[in-house]
Amino acid sequence: MTTQHAQTLIIGAGQAALQAALSLRQFGHEGAIAMVGEEPFPPYQRPPLSKAYLKGALARERLYLRPDDWYQDQNVDLITGVRAEAIDRNARQVRFDDRSSPSYGALIIATGARPRMPAIDGATLKGVFLLRGLADIDAIKAHMETPRRIVIIGGGYIGLEAAAAARQLGHAVTLVETAARVLQRVAGAPISQFFEDAHKREGVEIHTGASVSEITGEAGAVSGVRLAGGEVIDADMVLIGVGIIPNAEIAAQAGLEIAGGGILTDRDARTSDPAIFAVGDCAARPLVNDGALVRLESVHNAIEQGKLAAAAIAGKPRPREDCPWFWSDQYDLKLQIAGVSSGYDETVVRGAPDDRQFAVFYLKERRLIAVDAINAPAEFIVSKKLIMDKASPDTALLADATVPMKTIAERCSG
Ligand code: FAD
Repeated sequence: MTTQHAQTLIIGAGQAALQAALSLRQFGHEGAIAMVGEEPFPPYQRPPLSKAYLKGALARERLYLRPDDWYQDQNVDLITGVRAEAIDRNARQVRFDDRSSPSYGALIIATGARPRMPAIDGATLKGVFLLRGLADIDAIKAHMETPRRIVIIGGGYIGLEAAAAARQLGHAVTLVETAARVLQRVAGAPISQFFEDAHKREGVEIHTGASVSEITGEAGAVSGVRLAGGEVIDADMVLIGVGIIPNAEIAAQAGLEIAGGGILTDRDARTSDPAIFAVGDCAARPLVNDGALVRLESVHNAIEQGKLAAAAIAGKPRPREDCPWFWSDQYDLKLQIAGVSSGYDETVVRGAPDDRQFAVFYLKERRLIAVDAINAPAEFIVSKKLIMDKASPDTALLADATVPMKTIAERCSG
Protein backbone atom coordinates (compact mmCIF):
# COMPACT_ATOMS: atom_id res chain seq x y z
CA MET A 1 0.00 0.00 0.00
CA THR A 2 1.06 3.58 -0.54
CA THR A 3 1.80 5.68 2.48
CA GLN A 4 1.84 9.39 3.15
CA HIS A 5 5.59 9.30 3.47
CA ALA A 6 6.88 7.13 0.64
CA GLN A 7 7.77 9.21 -2.41
CA THR A 8 5.18 9.76 -5.12
CA LEU A 9 7.03 9.71 -8.41
CA ILE A 10 5.52 11.23 -11.53
CA ILE A 11 6.88 10.26 -14.96
CA GLY A 12 6.29 13.12 -17.39
CA ALA A 13 6.10 16.82 -16.63
CA GLY A 14 3.15 18.06 -18.67
CA GLN A 15 -0.42 19.15 -17.97
CA ALA A 16 -1.54 15.96 -16.22
CA ALA A 17 1.67 15.59 -14.19
CA LEU A 18 1.50 19.15 -12.89
CA GLN A 19 -2.14 18.72 -11.92
CA ALA A 20 -1.42 15.53 -10.05
CA ALA A 21 1.33 17.24 -8.00
CA LEU A 22 -0.81 20.32 -7.42
CA SER A 23 -3.82 18.29 -6.31
CA LEU A 24 -1.74 16.05 -4.05
CA ARG A 25 -0.64 19.15 -2.13
CA GLN A 26 -4.17 20.59 -2.17
CA PHE A 27 -5.45 17.31 -0.71
CA GLY A 28 -2.94 17.70 2.11
CA HIS A 29 -0.53 15.02 0.97
CA GLU A 30 2.73 15.60 2.82
CA GLY A 31 4.96 12.91 1.33
CA ALA A 32 7.79 13.67 -1.09
CA ILE A 33 6.83 14.30 -4.71
CA ALA A 34 9.25 14.09 -7.61
CA MET A 35 8.38 14.75 -11.25
CA VAL A 36 10.66 13.83 -14.13
CA GLY A 37 10.24 15.23 -17.64
CA GLU A 38 12.38 14.62 -20.69
CA GLU A 39 11.74 18.05 -22.18
CA PRO A 40 14.06 20.82 -20.97
CA PHE A 41 11.11 22.94 -19.76
CA PRO A 42 8.94 23.09 -16.67
CA PRO A 43 5.33 21.93 -17.25
CA TYR A 44 3.62 24.09 -19.87
CA GLN A 45 0.27 24.24 -21.63
CA ARG A 46 0.16 23.04 -25.23
CA PRO A 47 -3.11 24.55 -26.57
CA PRO A 48 -1.62 28.02 -27.29
CA LEU A 49 1.22 26.40 -29.25
CA SER A 50 -0.94 26.09 -32.36
CA LYS A 51 -2.90 29.29 -31.60
CA ALA A 52 -1.78 32.52 -29.89
CA TYR A 53 1.83 31.48 -29.26
CA LEU A 54 2.38 30.47 -32.88
CA LYS A 55 0.98 33.84 -33.97
CA GLY A 56 3.34 35.66 -31.61
CA ALA A 57 0.39 36.91 -29.52
CA LEU A 58 1.36 35.19 -26.26
CA ALA A 59 4.62 35.51 -24.35
CA ARG A 60 6.54 32.33 -23.65
CA GLU A 61 6.32 32.79 -19.84
CA ARG A 62 2.53 32.61 -20.12
CA LEU A 63 2.80 29.02 -21.34
CA TYR A 64 4.29 27.79 -18.08
CA LEU A 65 1.67 26.30 -15.80
CA ARG A 66 3.43 27.46 -12.60
CA PRO A 67 6.29 29.88 -11.94
CA ASP A 68 9.68 28.38 -11.07
CA ASP A 69 9.41 29.12 -7.35
CA TRP A 70 6.14 27.18 -7.06
CA TYR A 71 8.00 23.86 -7.19
CA GLN A 72 10.24 24.88 -4.32
CA ASP A 73 7.38 26.36 -2.30
CA GLN A 74 5.34 23.19 -2.72
CA ASN A 75 8.30 20.89 -2.15
CA VAL A 76 7.93 19.26 -5.55
CA ASP A 77 11.24 18.03 -6.94
CA LEU A 78 11.05 18.92 -10.64
CA ILE A 79 13.69 17.13 -12.74
CA THR A 80 13.78 18.25 -16.37
CA GLY A 81 15.79 16.97 -19.32
CA VAL A 82 15.78 13.44 -17.94
CA ARG A 83 13.92 10.46 -19.37
CA ALA A 84 12.45 7.60 -17.37
CA GLU A 85 13.41 4.39 -19.12
CA ALA A 86 11.94 1.48 -17.23
CA ILE A 87 9.75 0.60 -14.27
CA ASP A 88 10.76 -2.18 -11.90
CA ARG A 89 7.48 -3.03 -10.21
CA ASN A 90 8.98 -5.57 -7.81
CA ALA A 91 11.59 -3.16 -6.47
CA ARG A 92 9.22 -0.17 -6.89
CA GLN A 93 11.89 1.75 -8.68
CA VAL A 94 12.12 3.66 -11.95
CA ARG A 95 15.32 3.76 -13.94
CA PHE A 96 16.22 7.16 -15.40
CA ASP A 97 18.58 7.79 -18.32
CA ASP A 98 20.90 9.67 -15.95
CA ARG A 99 21.53 6.28 -14.29
CA SER A 100 19.62 7.12 -11.10
CA SER A 101 16.85 4.74 -9.98
CA PRO A 102 14.55 6.46 -7.49
CA SER A 103 12.01 4.40 -5.63
CA TYR A 104 8.32 5.11 -5.22
CA GLY A 105 5.42 4.40 -2.93
CA ALA A 106 2.98 5.51 -5.62
CA LEU A 107 3.87 6.03 -9.27
CA ILE A 108 1.98 8.23 -11.73
CA ILE A 109 2.61 7.73 -15.43
CA ALA A 110 1.87 11.01 -17.22
CA THR A 111 3.92 10.52 -20.36
CA GLY A 112 1.46 12.05 -22.84
CA ALA A 113 1.85 11.22 -26.50
CA ARG A 114 4.17 11.83 -29.40
CA PRO A 115 3.27 12.92 -32.92
CA ARG A 116 2.74 10.25 -35.50
CA MET A 117 5.22 10.50 -38.35
CA PRO A 118 3.83 9.41 -41.72
CA ALA A 119 6.05 6.95 -43.57
CA ILE A 120 6.89 9.19 -46.51
CA ASP A 121 10.16 10.07 -48.15
CA GLY A 122 11.47 13.53 -47.42
CA ALA A 123 10.13 13.79 -43.88
CA THR A 124 13.61 14.60 -42.55
CA LEU A 125 14.30 17.46 -44.97
CA LYS A 126 15.06 20.92 -43.59
CA GLY A 127 11.80 22.84 -43.33
CA VAL A 128 9.66 19.88 -42.19
CA PHE A 129 8.23 20.24 -38.70
CA LEU A 130 5.95 18.39 -36.28
CA LEU A 131 3.29 20.16 -34.23
CA ARG A 132 3.60 18.91 -30.66
CA GLY A 133 6.07 20.55 -28.30
CA LEU A 134 7.41 23.96 -27.41
CA ALA A 135 10.72 23.23 -29.14
CA ASP A 136 8.83 22.26 -32.34
CA ILE A 137 6.84 25.48 -32.30
CA ASP A 138 9.87 27.65 -31.53
CA ALA A 139 11.60 26.13 -34.57
CA ILE A 140 8.47 26.74 -36.68
CA LYS A 141 8.27 30.35 -35.54
CA ALA A 142 11.90 30.94 -36.43
CA HIS A 143 11.35 29.43 -39.90
CA MET A 144 8.27 31.62 -40.38
CA GLU A 145 10.23 34.81 -39.92
CA THR A 146 10.37 35.11 -43.70
CA PRO A 147 7.30 34.64 -45.93
CA ARG A 148 6.70 30.96 -46.59
CA ARG A 149 4.72 28.67 -48.85
CA ILE A 150 3.51 26.19 -46.29
CA VAL A 151 1.92 22.79 -46.81
CA ILE A 152 0.14 21.39 -43.78
CA ILE A 153 -0.33 17.62 -43.79
CA GLY A 154 -3.37 16.69 -41.71
CA GLY A 155 -6.77 18.34 -41.37
CA GLY A 156 -7.44 17.69 -37.69
CA TYR A 157 -7.81 20.45 -35.11
CA ILE A 158 -4.11 21.11 -34.76
CA GLY A 159 -3.48 21.25 -38.51
CA LEU A 160 -6.42 23.60 -38.98
CA GLU A 161 -5.33 25.83 -36.11
CA ALA A 162 -1.82 26.05 -37.54
CA ALA A 163 -3.33 26.89 -40.94
CA ALA A 164 -5.33 29.74 -39.40
CA ALA A 165 -2.31 31.12 -37.52
CA ALA A 166 -0.07 30.90 -40.58
CA ARG A 167 -2.64 32.67 -42.77
CA GLN A 168 -3.08 35.39 -40.17
CA LEU A 169 0.68 35.90 -40.34
CA GLY A 170 0.43 36.29 -44.11
CA HIS A 171 1.97 32.99 -45.28
CA ALA A 172 0.62 31.03 -48.26
CA VAL A 173 -1.04 27.88 -46.90
CA THR A 174 -2.16 24.64 -48.52
CA LEU A 175 -3.68 21.89 -46.39
CA VAL A 176 -3.71 18.25 -47.46
CA GLU A 177 -6.04 15.73 -45.82
CA THR A 178 -6.29 12.04 -46.72
CA ALA A 179 -9.90 11.64 -45.60
CA ALA A 180 -12.81 12.89 -47.67
CA ARG A 181 -13.24 15.86 -45.33
CA VAL A 182 -11.30 17.68 -42.64
CA LEU A 183 -12.07 16.67 -39.03
CA GLN A 184 -13.63 13.46 -40.32
CA ARG A 185 -12.41 11.41 -37.36
CA VAL A 186 -13.87 13.76 -34.74
CA ALA A 187 -16.80 15.76 -36.14
CA GLY A 188 -19.93 15.48 -38.26
CA ALA A 189 -20.12 16.59 -41.89
CA PRO A 190 -21.68 20.05 -41.23
CA ILE A 191 -18.75 20.99 -38.99
CA SER A 192 -16.20 19.78 -41.55
CA GLN A 193 -17.92 21.71 -44.32
CA PHE A 194 -18.10 24.84 -42.20
CA PHE A 195 -14.38 24.79 -41.39
CA GLU A 196 -13.38 24.00 -44.97
CA ASP A 197 -15.42 27.01 -46.15
CA ALA A 198 -14.03 29.25 -43.42
CA HIS A 199 -10.44 28.38 -44.30
CA LYS A 200 -11.01 28.74 -48.04
CA ARG A 201 -12.49 32.17 -47.42
CA GLU A 202 -9.29 33.11 -45.59
CA GLY A 203 -7.21 31.95 -48.55
CA VAL A 204 -6.19 28.44 -47.48
CA GLU A 205 -6.10 25.97 -50.36
CA ILE A 206 -7.53 22.63 -49.22
CA HIS A 207 -7.04 19.21 -50.81
CA THR A 208 -9.20 16.50 -49.25
CA GLY A 209 -9.14 12.84 -50.25
CA ALA A 210 -5.50 13.45 -51.15
CA SER A 211 -2.53 11.65 -49.72
CA VAL A 212 1.05 12.78 -49.76
CA SER A 213 3.42 10.35 -51.47
CA GLU A 214 6.64 12.31 -50.96
CA ILE A 215 8.08 15.54 -49.66
CA THR A 216 10.45 16.68 -52.36
CA GLY A 217 13.67 18.50 -51.66
CA GLU A 218 16.50 20.50 -53.13
CA ALA A 219 19.88 20.80 -51.44
CA GLY A 220 18.50 19.14 -48.34
CA ALA A 221 15.56 21.53 -47.93
CA VAL A 222 11.86 21.14 -48.76
CA SER A 223 10.89 22.16 -52.28
CA GLY A 224 7.41 20.69 -52.49
CA VAL A 225 4.90 18.00 -51.64
CA ARG A 226 3.93 15.34 -54.16
CA LEU A 227 0.40 13.96 -53.93
CA ALA A 228 -0.44 10.35 -54.73
CA GLY A 229 -2.02 11.48 -58.00
CA GLY A 230 1.32 12.97 -59.11
CA GLU A 231 0.53 16.66 -58.55
CA VAL A 232 3.34 18.61 -56.86
CA ILE A 233 2.55 21.54 -54.56
CA ASP A 234 5.46 23.97 -54.27
CA ALA A 235 6.48 24.54 -50.68
CA ASP A 236 9.40 25.68 -48.57
CA MET A 237 7.88 24.56 -45.30
CA VAL A 238 5.83 21.50 -44.30
CA LEU A 239 3.95 21.08 -41.02
CA ILE A 240 2.84 17.59 -40.06
CA GLY A 241 -0.17 17.08 -37.80
CA VAL A 242 -1.52 13.60 -38.46
CA GLY A 243 -2.32 12.42 -34.97
CA ILE A 244 -0.48 11.13 -31.97
CA ILE A 245 0.74 7.87 -30.47
CA PRO A 246 0.35 7.51 -26.70
CA ASN A 247 3.61 7.02 -24.83
CA ALA A 248 2.43 3.77 -23.28
CA GLU A 249 5.50 1.60 -23.96
CA ILE A 250 7.06 2.13 -20.54
CA ALA A 251 3.85 0.77 -18.99
CA ALA A 252 3.52 -2.11 -21.44
CA GLN A 253 7.12 -3.17 -20.83
CA ALA A 254 6.44 -3.23 -17.10
CA GLY A 255 3.52 -5.60 -17.75
CA LEU A 256 0.73 -3.11 -17.08
CA GLU A 257 -2.45 -3.76 -18.96
CA ILE A 258 -2.94 -1.83 -22.21
CA ALA A 259 -6.47 -1.43 -23.62
CA GLY A 260 -8.59 1.12 -25.46
CA GLY A 261 -5.46 2.45 -27.16
CA GLY A 262 -3.73 3.48 -23.95
CA ILE A 263 -2.70 2.41 -20.45
CA LEU A 264 -5.80 0.86 -18.92
CA THR A 265 -7.07 2.73 -15.85
CA ASP A 266 -10.14 2.59 -13.63
CA ARG A 267 -12.24 5.53 -12.48
CA ASP A 268 -9.53 6.51 -9.98
CA ALA A 269 -6.87 6.54 -12.74
CA ARG A 270 -5.36 3.38 -11.23
CA THR A 271 -3.69 0.91 -13.59
CA SER A 272 -3.67 -2.89 -13.28
CA ASP A 273 -1.00 -2.40 -10.57
CA PRO A 274 -2.63 -0.77 -7.51
CA ALA A 275 0.49 1.32 -6.78
CA ILE A 276 0.63 2.78 -10.29
CA PHE A 277 -1.64 5.40 -11.86
CA ALA A 278 -1.78 6.69 -15.43
CA VAL A 279 -3.19 10.07 -16.39
CA GLY A 280 -3.69 12.25 -19.47
CA ASP A 281 -3.10 11.45 -23.13
CA CYS A 282 -1.33 8.14 -22.38
CA ALA A 283 -4.24 6.61 -20.44
CA ALA A 284 -7.53 4.97 -21.38
CA ARG A 285 -10.34 5.45 -18.88
CA PRO A 286 -14.02 4.62 -18.47
CA LEU A 287 -16.16 7.40 -19.95
CA VAL A 288 -17.93 9.22 -17.16
CA ASN A 289 -21.56 8.48 -17.91
CA ASP A 290 -21.55 5.27 -19.89
CA GLY A 291 -18.39 3.41 -18.88
CA ALA A 292 -17.08 2.94 -22.42
CA LEU A 293 -13.29 2.79 -22.47
CA VAL A 294 -11.84 5.90 -24.11
CA ARG A 295 -8.46 7.57 -24.48
CA LEU A 296 -9.04 11.30 -24.58
CA GLU A 297 -6.61 13.97 -25.76
CA SER A 298 -7.63 17.13 -23.96
CA VAL A 299 -6.67 19.51 -21.20
CA HIS A 300 -9.88 18.76 -19.31
CA ASN A 301 -9.09 15.06 -19.32
CA ALA A 302 -5.48 15.62 -18.20
CA ILE A 303 -6.59 17.84 -15.34
CA GLU A 304 -9.43 15.59 -14.25
CA GLN A 305 -7.34 12.43 -14.25
CA GLY A 306 -4.52 14.22 -12.44
CA LYS A 307 -7.01 15.11 -9.70
CA LEU A 308 -8.46 11.59 -9.58
CA ALA A 309 -5.04 9.98 -9.14
CA ALA A 310 -4.05 12.53 -6.49
CA ALA A 311 -7.26 11.93 -4.52
CA ALA A 312 -6.74 8.17 -4.58
CA ILE A 313 -3.12 8.49 -3.42
CA ALA A 314 -4.00 11.02 -0.71
CA GLY A 315 -6.88 8.83 0.49
CA LYS A 316 -9.55 11.44 -0.32
CA PRO A 317 -13.00 10.82 -1.81
CA ARG A 318 -13.09 10.62 -5.60
CA PRO A 319 -13.60 14.14 -7.05
CA ARG A 320 -16.72 14.67 -9.16
CA GLU A 321 -16.13 13.81 -12.81
CA ASP A 322 -17.43 16.22 -15.42
CA CYS A 323 -18.54 15.83 -19.03
CA PRO A 324 -15.42 15.67 -21.27
CA TRP A 325 -14.84 18.88 -23.18
CA PHE A 326 -12.43 20.45 -25.63
CA TRP A 327 -12.06 23.64 -27.61
CA SER A 328 -10.42 24.94 -30.78
CA ASP A 329 -9.80 28.53 -31.87
CA GLN A 330 -9.45 29.39 -35.55
CA TYR A 331 -9.70 32.99 -36.80
CA ASP A 332 -12.67 34.51 -34.94
CA LEU A 333 -14.29 31.09 -34.49
CA LYS A 334 -14.50 29.47 -31.09
CA LEU A 335 -15.44 25.82 -31.30
CA GLN A 336 -16.43 24.19 -28.02
CA ILE A 337 -17.04 20.48 -27.87
CA ALA A 338 -18.73 18.56 -25.07
CA GLY A 339 -19.06 14.80 -24.83
CA VAL A 340 -17.71 12.12 -27.13
CA SER A 341 -19.61 11.77 -30.41
CA SER A 342 -18.40 8.32 -31.50
CA GLY A 343 -21.27 5.94 -32.16
CA TYR A 344 -23.89 8.63 -32.82
CA ASP A 345 -26.88 7.69 -34.97
CA GLU A 346 -28.49 11.10 -35.43
CA THR A 347 -27.35 14.72 -35.74
CA VAL A 348 -29.35 17.89 -35.26
CA VAL A 349 -28.17 21.28 -36.51
CA ARG A 350 -29.25 24.39 -34.63
CA GLY A 351 -28.70 27.80 -36.19
CA ALA A 352 -27.20 28.63 -39.55
CA PRO A 353 -23.51 28.07 -40.39
CA ASP A 354 -23.66 31.24 -42.50
CA ASP A 355 -24.23 33.24 -39.30
CA ARG A 356 -20.96 31.81 -37.94
CA GLN A 357 -22.89 30.82 -34.83
CA PHE A 358 -24.44 27.37 -34.74
CA ALA A 359 -24.29 23.97 -33.08
CA VAL A 360 -24.40 20.33 -34.11
CA PHE A 361 -25.85 17.90 -31.57
CA TYR A 362 -24.97 14.20 -31.68
CA LEU A 363 -27.51 11.68 -30.39
CA LYS A 364 -27.40 7.94 -29.86
CA GLU A 365 -30.69 6.10 -29.42
CA ARG A 366 -32.25 9.55 -28.79
CA ARG A 367 -29.84 10.37 -25.99
CA LEU A 368 -27.65 13.46 -26.38
CA ILE A 369 -24.01 12.32 -26.30
CA ALA A 370 -22.07 15.28 -27.70
CA VAL A 371 -22.23 18.77 -29.13
CA ASP A 372 -19.99 20.88 -31.36
CA ALA A 373 -20.85 24.52 -30.68
CA ILE A 374 -19.38 27.31 -32.80
CA ASN A 375 -19.52 30.76 -31.21
CA ALA A 376 -22.48 29.31 -29.27
CA PRO A 377 -21.60 29.14 -25.55
CA ALA A 378 -25.17 28.49 -24.30
CA GLU A 379 -25.48 25.43 -26.53
CA PHE A 380 -22.18 24.16 -25.15
CA ILE A 381 -22.89 24.80 -21.47
CA VAL A 382 -26.44 23.45 -21.43
CA SER A 383 -25.43 20.41 -23.48
CA LYS A 384 -22.73 19.50 -20.98
CA LYS A 385 -25.39 19.18 -18.32
CA LEU A 386 -27.83 17.32 -20.57
CA ILE A 387 -25.10 14.84 -21.55
CA MET A 388 -24.25 14.19 -17.90
CA ASP A 389 -27.97 13.78 -17.13
CA LYS A 390 -28.27 11.23 -19.99
CA ALA A 391 -31.12 13.38 -21.29
CA SER A 392 -33.08 12.78 -24.47
CA PRO A 393 -34.05 16.30 -25.53
CA ASP A 394 -36.79 16.91 -28.09
CA THR A 395 -34.94 17.13 -31.41
CA ALA A 396 -37.49 19.54 -32.92
CA LEU A 397 -36.83 21.95 -30.07
CA LEU A 398 -33.06 21.49 -30.39
CA ALA A 399 -33.28 22.41 -34.05
CA ASP A 400 -35.30 25.56 -33.32
CA ALA A 401 -32.82 28.33 -32.47
CA THR A 402 -35.69 30.54 -31.24
CA VAL A 403 -36.28 28.18 -28.30
CA PRO A 404 -33.71 29.02 -25.60
CA MET A 405 -31.44 26.17 -24.51
CA LYS A 406 -32.55 26.79 -20.94
CA THR A 407 -36.15 25.98 -21.91
CA ILE A 408 -35.02 22.77 -23.60
CA ALA A 409 -33.16 21.75 -20.45
CA GLU A 410 -36.19 22.54 -18.26
CA ARG A 411 -38.43 20.40 -20.47
CA CYS A 412 -35.95 17.50 -20.09
CA SER A 413 -35.99 17.65 -16.32
CA GLY A 414 -39.71 18.39 -16.05
P1 FAD B 1 1.79 16.17 -22.24
O1 FAD B 1 1.31 17.57 -22.01
O2 FAD B 1 2.20 15.80 -23.62
O3 FAD B 1 3.00 15.88 -21.24
C1 FAD B 1 3.70 14.67 -21.22
C2 FAD B 1 5.16 14.96 -20.95
O4 FAD B 1 5.82 13.75 -20.60
C3 FAD B 1 5.91 15.52 -22.15
O5 FAD B 1 6.64 16.64 -21.77
C4 FAD B 1 6.85 14.37 -22.54
O6 FAD B 1 8.06 14.82 -23.11
C5 FAD B 1 7.10 13.73 -21.19
N1 FAD B 1 7.56 12.33 -21.27
C6 FAD B 1 7.10 11.35 -22.08
N2 FAD B 1 7.74 10.18 -21.84
C7 FAD B 1 8.63 10.44 -20.86
C8 FAD B 1 9.59 9.63 -20.18
N3 FAD B 1 9.73 8.33 -20.43
N4 FAD B 1 10.34 10.22 -19.23
C9 FAD B 1 10.20 11.53 -18.92
N5 FAD B 1 9.30 12.35 -19.55
C10 FAD B 1 8.53 11.80 -20.50
N6 FAD B 1 -6.39 20.19 -25.71
C11 FAD B 1 -7.50 20.92 -25.46
O7 FAD B 1 -8.29 20.54 -24.58
N7 FAD B 1 -7.77 22.07 -26.16
C12 FAD B 1 -6.94 22.54 -27.12
O8 FAD B 1 -7.21 23.56 -27.74
C13 FAD B 1 -5.73 21.81 -27.39
N8 FAD B 1 -4.83 22.26 -28.28
C14 FAD B 1 -3.65 21.58 -28.48
C15 FAD B 1 -2.70 22.08 -29.35
C16 FAD B 1 -1.51 21.41 -29.55
C17 FAD B 1 -0.48 21.97 -30.49
C18 FAD B 1 -1.25 20.19 -28.87
C19 FAD B 1 0.03 19.43 -29.10
C20 FAD B 1 -2.19 19.68 -28.00
C21 FAD B 1 -3.40 20.38 -27.78
N9 FAD B 1 -4.36 19.89 -26.89
C22 FAD B 1 -5.50 20.62 -26.66
C23 FAD B 1 -4.16 18.60 -26.20
C24 FAD B 1 -3.60 18.81 -24.81
O9 FAD B 1 -2.56 19.75 -24.82
C25 FAD B 1 -3.13 17.46 -24.27
O10 FAD B 1 -4.25 16.62 -24.20
C26 FAD B 1 -2.47 17.60 -22.92
O11 FAD B 1 -1.30 18.34 -22.99
C27 FAD B 1 -2.16 16.22 -22.35
O12 FAD B 1 -1.42 16.34 -21.17
P2 FAD B 1 -0.44 15.18 -20.71
O13 FAD B 1 0.18 15.65 -19.43
O14 FAD B 1 -1.12 13.90 -20.78
O15 FAD B 1 0.69 15.12 -21.83
